[in-house]
Amino acid sequence: MASSPVALVLHGGAGVLARRSYDREVEHLHSLAERGRTLLHDGMSAIDVVADLTRAMEVSGLYVAGKGSAPNVEGRYELDAAIMDGPCRMAGAVAALEGFVSPIDAARMVMEKTPHVLLAGDGAARLARKNGLEEVEDPDSYYKPAAVADNRAIATGTVGAVALDAEGRLAAATSTGGTLKKTPGRVGDCPLIGSGTWADTEVAVSCTGQGEYFIRSLAAGTVAARIRYLQESPDEACRWALKDVKRLGGDGGIIAVGKDGRVAFPWNSEGMKHAVLHPDGRITAGVKAG
Ligand code: ASP
Repeated sequence: MASSPVALVLHGGAGVLARRSYDREVEHLHSLAERGRTLLHDGMSAIDVVADLTRAMEVSGLYVAGKGSAPNVEGRYELDAAIMDGPCRMAGAVAALEGFVSPIDAARMVMEKTPHVLLAGDGAARLARKNGLEEVEDPDSYYKPAAVADNRAIATGTVGAVALDAEGRLAAATSTGGTLKKTPGRVGDCPLIGSGTWADTEVAVSCTGQGEYFIRSLAAGTVAARIRYLQESPDEACRWALKDVKRLGGDGGIIAVGKDGRVAFPWNSEGMKHAVLHPDGRITAGVKAG
């Protein structure tokens, strides 16, 4: 059955501190890429693989997503997530969702159980509850903010996954606790389809960085448009989009995989936690260049 090469890229956020070790995160991402390789070789669809791996990152507590999320200025945990299925361009997203272990599962519920793309706040929570998603009983003991442990003013540790499966299907998923001490109700780029997350029949994209800049540059959609209309490679398109983010004053990273298995994972911040399953089957992982 496996006719096309499979490929996968994961990110654990582009906000890294120069002197901190990210060995644990990189090791974790590497192990997830291995799991992704097995799942893809077993014939699992790209959409199931990105959901599975994003959920694993959410529950790990190692990133600013799910368990490791940053609280807003009032100490509440409002989480964003999005998922997109390239072949049918179906998408689901949740914004400012409180009280659930896996926002990416809630985003998938929006895609599969409603005619909508994005549900926010209480409406998103009600859908998640109705569908029996696991709830966070006690937020103060459940969440272990990864960024607070780093003593950082701005937390950027969103997680994302993009995959190409054996049948040539592309999918993308992104999940985040957003930025540390954000204003209540703030929504970042991650759940906005075309800003932080995108998948179509050409490419799957997930972004990380200060979301406001990725929204104002329509980063993920720009990557897709440059590939579709200018025939750029995923790497060229991602680098162009990051330059645009930079022009506005921001920085961050973008991961992408194209329909032929070409992967891209550039960043213009200090580093980006990432792991890559290359189309030749190799896995690489790291946080900085070199
Ligand atoms: N993009 C995310 C946001 O602004 C943050 C991140 O990438 O870590 O919500």
